[in-house]
Amino acid sequence: MPERNSVRDGEVWLVGAGPGDPELLTRKAERLIGEASVIFHDALVGPGVLELAHPGARLVHVGKRSGRHSKDQGTIDKLIVAAALAGERVVRLKGGDPSIFGRATEELDACRAAGVPVRICPGVTAASAAAAGIGASLTLRGLARKLTFVTAHARAGEALELDWDKLADPEATLAVYMGKAAAGVVSRNLMAAGLAGDTPVALVENASLPQERVFFTRLDLLELSSRTALGDGPALLLIGEALRQADLRQADLQQRTMRPGAASRAAETMERVACHTGRRTPTI
Ligand code: SAH
Repeated sequence: MPERNSVRDGEVWLVGAGPGDPELLTRKAERLIGEASVIFHDALVGPGVLELAHPGARLVHVGKRSGRHSKDQGTIDKLIVAAALAGERVVRLKGGDPSIFGRATEELDACRAAGVPVRICPGVTAASAAAAGIGASLTLRGLARKLTFVTAHARAGEALELDWDKLADPEATLAVYMGKAAAGVVSRNLMAAGLAGDTPVALVENASLPQERVFFTRLDLLELSSRTALGDGPALLLIGEALRQADLRQADLQQRTMRPGAASRAAETMERVACHTGRRTPTI
C-alpha cells in the first residue's frame, strides 16, 4: 500500500483536476483538494470539483483562457510560493493532467528555488476524456501504433511552428490541444505533408461535462467544421484512422445538443462529408 501523502503546512501539490466531471478525479486528488487551506485554480476546473474544497479553504481563481489571461505565469508562481512560505497547505489545481500543457515546470522550478516542497498528483487528460465521450480508442492495433499530444497554441505574435512532416503520420492518432483557432492551419499543413484529406477527425468540446459536444468530420473539412460546429468551450481535435471506430450513435445524441443555429450549418457540413466519403450521415 503506497504511503498516503497529505498536503502538509508549507507544501505545494500540483493536482490534476481532470477534464471537468468530478467523478473523473482520482481519489488522491479528491482527498488533497479537501485537505488544502488554499486552492489556486484554473478556468478549466469545473465547479463540481471546487465544491470538494474544505468550507474554510480559500479559493483563488488564477485562470487562463485563450485571449483572457487573468494572471500571468510569473504572478501565479509567486502566489503559490508565498502561500507555502506563509505555512499554508497549497493545492494548485490544474485542468486535466498537470504535466500535459499545464506550465507545471515553471511552478515546480519556482517552488524548488524557494525551498518549498512540491509534488504532483496526476489527472485524466482531455484526450482520454474525449476518446471516452465518442466511444473510441486512441490507439488501434496495426493502424494507430502511436499517439501524439500536440499543442496548436503559438505564442502571441508568433506563427505556429510544428514538425508537420513528423505529425502527418497515417499510423498515428493526433490529439491537438488548444487547436480550435488553428484548425485551418493544422489541416492545411497536415495535408501538405501528405496526410489524406479523408482522414477522420473528431472535434470534442467540453469533454466529460454535461455540455459535451461531439462532431465528426474529415481533415479537408476541418476548418469549416470547427467554425460551424463548436461553441466557446475548451475543445480537442482528434485526428487519425483510429477515429473511424467512434460510436456514431453516441455522436448522434450529442450533435443534437449543439448550440442553436449551429445544427443547420453542421448538417450542411455533414452532407458534404457524406458526399465525400459515401458514409452514413449522423442525423441532427
Ligand atoms: N492539462 C490539460 C490541458 C491544458 S491545455 C489536460 O491534460 O487536459 C488546455 C486545452 O486542453 C484546451 O484548450 C483544450 O484543447 C483541452 N481541454 C481541456 N479540457 C477539455 C475538455 N473538457 N474538453 C475538451 N478539451 C479540453
